[in-house]
Amino acid sequence: MRRALELARLAETAGEVPIGAVVTLDGRIIGEGENRNRRDNDPTAHAEIVALRSAALHLGDFRLAGCDIWVTLEPCPMCAGAISHARIARLYYGAADPKGGAIEQGPRLYAQPQCLHRPDVYGGIAEKEASALLRGFFAARR
Ligand SMILES: [Zn+2]
Repeated sequence: MRRALELARLAETAGEVPIGAVVTLDGRIIGEGENRNRRDNDPTAHAEIVALRSAALHLGDFRLAGCDIWVTLEPCPMCAGAISHARIARLYYGAADPKGGAIEQGPRLYAQPQCLHRPDVYGGIAEKEASALLRGFFAARR
C-alpha cells in the first residue's frame, strides 16, 4: 500500500485525482498504475485498470489468479468489474468512497448473485493517508 500511496502522489503532481494501485503476486509487485484520465484522454484510465493491464502484460495472461490488488480508494463499478474479470484473489483498499465506490457502497458488485468471481475484500488499509490525499486534492480545487 505504501507504493500505491506513492503512485497516488505522482498522479496528483501530474494534475490527476490522486489514486494509485499495485498488483502483487506472492508479495512482489508485478503491475502498478495511477490515475491517468486527463493525460491519456481515457475515461477507463483509472489506477486499477492501469495496474491490471501492466500486471497482465507482465504475466502474459489476462487472468491474474492468485494475485492481489492494493488501491488507495474503494474501486468504482468499472474497476470492481475488471478486478472480478481478472480473477484477482484479494482486494485491499484504503479510503471508502461513498459517492463512487461499488464494493461496500452503492452497487455492492461482489454481493450480487450474478457476480462470478468475488475477491476477498479488506478495506480501510492506510485509510488516513489515502483520504487525506484526496481531501487535500479536492480542497485545493475549490
Ligand atoms: Zn475505477
